[in-house]
Amino acid sequence: MANEKILLIEDEAPIRDLVKLTLETSGYSSIYTAENGEEGLRLAQLRLPDLILLDLMLPGVDGLTVCRRLKEGEETRNIPVIMLTAKSEETDVVIGLEMGACDYITKPFNRKILIARVRAQLRGFAEHESGTEIRCTGLVINSETHSAKLHGQELELTLSEFEILKLFASHPGRVYTRNQVISRIKGEDYPVTERAIDVQIVNLRRKLGEWGANIETVRGVGYRLKQGF
Ligand code: CA
Repeated sequence: MANEKILLIEDEAPIRDLVKLTLETSGYSSIYTAENGEEGLRLAQLRLPDLILLDLMLPGVDGLTVCRRLKEGEETRNIPVIMLTAKSEETDVVIGLEMGACDYITKPFNRKILIARVRAQLRGFAEHESGTEIRCTGLVINSETHSAKLHGQELELTLSEFEILKLFASHPGRVYTRNQVISRIKGEDYPVTERAIDVQIVNLRRKLGEWGANIETVRGVGYRLKQGF
């Protein structure tokens, strides 16, 4: 069934074994493990996995450096990275997301959450994105006509709200920092602050009604659209 290759970079053996076992019992059989950053980078280049689970607190080359090198590498830059973090590493999570990591899981993790997040990244984004149209549970976004419809009803969105919704809907499950949202909607002729993004999200949620609750606030980090609701 699931023959996607997953690379796990984690120095603590009990966590490494637990993550590997959790993935295996969910049907993922091609799992490579590395105990440190150097080995992880070597295996990433050698195996070109479909997904990388990356512990941030690693001896030697730390997780953020590994993430940066992966994103600099021609062959490795598009591999989704999920960071494994401790609760105290919130600042590093934001830095990692801005470097290009897709998501993060806080340790100690719940097995179901781990598998759901892994599936979300492996499923890829192509299947619900065809040409100029993105479909996402009742929502249809057309980037050519700049229109967004919810259950067939046209939404009255500002350009910024439209761009934010499109960003979230094209990558359900992916966490975006406020800075990432800002750089997406930049180009309009007024300065955008983090606070302004929060206001845009409030307005967007209101216009989306009940559906708006699917835009989750990720405390201290940013926002994401719920996966698989
Ligand atoms: Ca560690």
